[in-house]
Amino acid sequence: MPKHERNDVMSKYSGYMDKVAKFDLSTGKLETYPWSDKNKELYIGGKMMAAKILYDNLSGKEEAFSEENMIVITTGPLTGTGAPSSARFDVAAISPETGAVEFCNCGGNFGYYLKKAGYDALILTGKCSEHSWLDIYNDSFVLHNADMEGIWGQRVVEAQAAVREILDRDYGCRVKCGIVTIGTAGEELRPYADIFSQERATGKGGIGAVFGWKNLKAIAVAGNHRPTVKNQEKLTAWNKKWIDATRSHALTAKQLPKLGVTEMRADAGELNTLSQGCLSCPIKCGFADVKACGEVDAEREQFGLLGGDVLAKDLDKMLVKMDASDKLKTEFAFMMQNVLESISATGQCTFTGLTALPAESSIEGAVGKCMNKLAPFISFINKHPGIMFFPLSAFYHDREMKYAVGMKMNLGKYMRCGERGYTLEKYMKALFCDGELCQCLADEGNKEALEKLLKAYYAIRSWSKEGVPTEATLKKLGIKKGSN
Ligand code: SF4
Repeated sequence: MPKHERNDVMSKYSGYMDKVAKFDLSTGKLETYPWSDKNKELYIGGKMMAAKILYDNLSGKEEAFSEENMIVITTGPLTGTGAPSSARFDVAAISPETGAVEFCNCGGNFGYYLKKAGYDALILTGKCSEHSWLDIYNDSFVLHNADMEGIWGQRVVEAQAAVREILDRDYGCRVKCGIVTIGTAGEELRPYADIFSQERATGKGGIGAVFGWKNLKAIAVAGNHRPTVKNQEKLTAWNKKWIDATRSHALTAKQLPKLGVTEMRADAGELNTLSQGCLSCPIKCGFADVKACGEVDAEREQFGLLGGDVLAKDLDKMLVKMDASDKLKTEFAFMMQNVLESISATGQCTFTGLTALPAESSIEGAVGKCMNKLAPFISFINKHPGIMFFPLSAFYHDREMKYAVGMKMNLGKYMRCGERGYTLEKYMKALFCDGELCQCLADEGNKEALEKLLKAYYAIRSWSKEGVPTEATLKKLGIKKGSN
């Protein structure tokens, strides 16, 4: 089928499909959810977009297993444009694990194919009346009976294969598509259940159980659209430069493809694994188990990390024993979180940010002590990110946004945008906990040190001392209810 660009796009920005689908699983009603250019600038994509949609639609009184709970699946403007490592997507909903809103970022290929179907995001409300799976092809949304087709009750890999087989049968050809499925844990409403795109998992929050409660086993998405890009020639040249840098950097060319993020799993060496990666990614850090029959199973990270994507074996060392002042640690964390948050929202994997770092670094000993002198400087930048208006040559992301989307970005804009997204995410979580946020991670050994850091960190973010964003902070960041 010929590929075509959407002819009803009104946005001044490329990259976006300029359409958000809202589908009611109870009634089968399909609507277009408004998403303005102003929203695109304030909440770039991915998790930020989901946070704003949930902010506008939830009051904090809703429950995970209720028809009011919405599943929001979002992409970023770079997804599907050919930008490296950009096929990822976000899923958000009220979590049965925590009772608060949870946001997950997932690899695989579903984000790419959601854009191919013509959508930047998909909002699911209501509940299917019977065990179902959703087949989306461009503007056609069809719910299939998952019992009759033998898909309900299957594990992830089998369910994906079964959906694939039905699509091949119905479309009469091997249609290129993205599929997300839950396994039996989701059907059984286990509060830690994941959803999977290929072998990649959402990894936290138990949103698989929300799928299960809504009687939704899988979503297949396909279409023949594609996003426009602002300047194809410049984008292609810039992508090549970036991919070359990724393939020559010690972290993205050696550590991640070799070790992934699961080196801490005790039996890692005994597993038969395959290094896989998300669509469009030159890094390919994923490791999937391979069964005796040769079938590829789910990714290993979920078993090794149980949701905590930390590249450190020694948390004490990270949190307490760094020879850096609390001031430096918190200011640096604030800056990095904001930048990585924005990178992820554009659709790119946060690991692409590693190319901007020196391959080997240490903040212990004399180096750490010297770095403390940088704290006031970083603090000034954090307060006034607008001064970082120039492109940084080690930081490829801003020109990617310029050439693909036509959106002017620089380090300062990434920082401000990330701060907005991070604050709104925290605000939404607090809304469901009446401000009583989880104080986990701290054990007796590091509790005092962690509390000291948190106090400083909340102050930098202009949140309350309990870690809840205030109305004044939302206002300062331009966050307000309703359409902008
Ligand atoms: S670096 Fe790893 S997680 Fe990130 S997009 Fe590539 S394969 Fe996926």
